[in-house]
Amino acid sequence: MRPPSVDSLARSMTDVDLPHPLLVDAARAAIAAGDPGSARSRAEAMAAAILRPVINGTGVLLHTNLGRAPSRPSPVSGAARYANVELDLVTGTRGSRDRHAAGLLARAAGAEAAMVVNNGAAAILLALAAVAGGREVVVSRGELVEIGGGFRIPEVLASSGARMVEVGTTNRTRLGDYRAALSDDTAVCLKVHPSNYRIVGFTEEVTVGALAGLGPPVVADLGSGLLDAATPWLGGPQPWLAGEPAVRQTLAAGAALVTFSGDKLLGGPQAGVVAGRADLVARCARHPLARALRPGGLTLAHLQETALSYLRGDAASLPLWAMAARSVASLRARAEALGVGDVVDLAGVFGGGTQPGREVPSAGVALAGDHTAALRAWETPIVARVTDGATVIDLRTVDPDDDGTVGKALASCGSAAAAGDA
Ligand SMILES: *Cc1c(COP(=O)(O)O)cnc(C)c1O
Repeated sequence: MRPPSVDSLARSMTDVDLPHPLLVDAARAAIAAGDPGSARSRAEAMAAAILRPVINGTGVLLHTNLGRAPSRPSPVSGAARYANVELDLVTGTRGSRDRHAAGLLARAAGAEAAMVVNNGAAAILLALAAVAGGREVVVSRGELVEIGGGFRIPEVLASSGARMVEVGTTNRTRLGDYRAALSDDTAVCLKVHPSNYRIVGFTEEVTVGALAGLGPPVVADLGSGLLDAATPWLGGPQPWLAGEPAVRQTLAAGAALVTFSGDKLLGGPQAGVVAGRADLVARCARHPLARALRPGGLTLAHLQETALSYLRGDAASLPLWAMAARSVASLRARAEALGVGDVVDLAGVFGGGTQPGREVPSAGVALAGDHTAALRAWETPIVARVTDGATVIDLRTVDPDDDGTVGKALASCGSAAAAGDA
């Protein structure tokens, strides 16, 4: 029998949600492999590799593989429009990219000024290059950390063109260690929040406030971007956030600049923020790297929404904080209402390198057996985990609007398993 033509094979798969040229690619690859029957599974694999909304049933609030902080879908309909990314609408002349999102964030954080770059790594790189390039940066040996994905503070420092001066030891660094290392060439005292691990026991570190008294500007890489330790949007300080450094308090303690991610505890899009003294932020903005690291209008628009939520005192409307704030009782009630599997108490985590070792009490459902592959293949993919032979969905990271989808998917998995047993 003659193999089907590429074209007829591609046309037989129009129900797979892919543009025609990609269906042709799948058909061609299948025929080239001598296995035309594999065209559909190849096309479906392509469709599954495309970015799409996912229901996070893991209970990890900032899941690196799922894009960290959750966001709402952006409108896809409506008129095609532009944005005043660099236009001053009052004068009609060229405006600044740092007016809107960055200015509002600075206001929300109590900073003189701020600028936005593509991620937290870019923020610390730019701050060091602009403020300390060619000069010395004093940093504790206890803070020469790797954040993940090979992002290592000593290497970032080297790429910035600054010279690293290490002080103290892994577990203990004192103010005198920093003082002894100061020279005419000291540009910055760097403080790095070792987000993803903790040293416990015989330890000592120097606070930003004490460091600020030494003279050189203190740059603090906070990583997580918790805007205010008092979390007024949650009605007050939260025990599970204790010890997490916050932007507002670090600046008030005397940091000249802080850097942080947009998509960790800030709850916004992937971005990095440099905030603090206006003269130093201006130096960052003038540095040649700034252009290479700048984000686009979509990111700025999303981050501006995040900043406005904080300024309205309405940060609880941000998806991350809405999820974090839900009571265990409300999660348990939702789990019961699903009507499938067993209701279980769970311990979620923040993830994304924040709050290592600290748990967020939670609740969800458990269904005997491993159904994770079927759930990932659901129309809106659902990511779950397996514990003690059962598939577990933690409802803390699931939007209540998705409960119906989760319930239907679990019921389908349960009945498929029952049919398999029969
Ligand atoms: C996460 C983190 C970074 C890197 O931020 P990205 O947004 O992932 O680039 C840098 N420093 C610290 C302390 C962090 O926690």
